[in-house]
Amino acid sequence: MYLADTHTHLYSKEFNTDRDALISKAMANGVKKFYLPNIDSGSIAPMLELEKQYPENFFAMMGLHPCSVDAGVENELAMVKNWLQQRPFVAIGEIGIDLYWDKTFFEQQQHAFKTQINWALEYNYPIIIHCREAFEPIYEILKSYAKLPKGIFHCFSGTLEQAHKIIELGNFKLGIGGVVTFKNSGLDKVVEQLDTEHLVLETDAPYLAPLPFRGKRNEPVYILEVAKKIAALKNIGIEELGKITTANAEFIFGNG
Ligand SMILES: [Zn+2]
Repeated sequence: MYLADTHTHLYSKEFNTDRDALISKAMANGVKKFYLPNIDSGSIAPMLELEKQYPENFFAMMGLHPCSVDAGVENELAMVKNWLQQRPFVAIGEIGIDLYWDKTFFEQQQHAFKTQINWALEYNYPIIIHCREAFEPIYEILKSYAKLPKGIFHCFSGTLEQAHKIIELGNFKLGIGGVVTFKNSGLDKVVEQLDTEHLVLETDAPYLAPLPFRGKRNEPVYILEVAKKIAALKNIGIEELGKITTANAEFIFGNG
């Protein structure tokens, strides 16, 4: 088995007491690659520390999360740009628009999103998109570009029509996590109709643990529950699903 977790915040303090044990357990179960999305200036140090500890398996991104966008957006963006100039990263992420928690800084969120897409194009990096209650504004921005980077719609939980719109953009994959296991999420019906070539796996740990762990802290090894569920929906073996989705992840991040 060879699985890639394309979106995990394993550097969060929620894992400070047992991080290494959880990583060993996940690796023993075939989870070999972990992609770390940044949040803001506060998450960079622990993220880079984790990457340094496991340079073969953990890969850091750089970016500003839409929920960390406020009146101080220019300072945070300057910090992102500064890091981009200092060392390579596997992607710009996570970036996007979130209108679920707060709409106050919608304009600044759009500005930060566009600025970081431009940097992705400049540095030739993929983008990892956080989209919550914001499919239309995000799609509108993406459509305004003549050329787009590769990317992942992280934690995709939209409709089949939205999935097709994303796929038609070009080199975009859909990040599928614990939500696909939730009863009545409807995401299982959508995933069932999508070709596996468009899918990548993610935990979004510590958030969104799959069934039967829903509501608990999400752990890296729980990605197996997501893989099992999708494999069953697509009527293929879990090994085969792992192979396909890991290849998809490596296509995006370019580190196969
Ligand atoms: Zn995230």
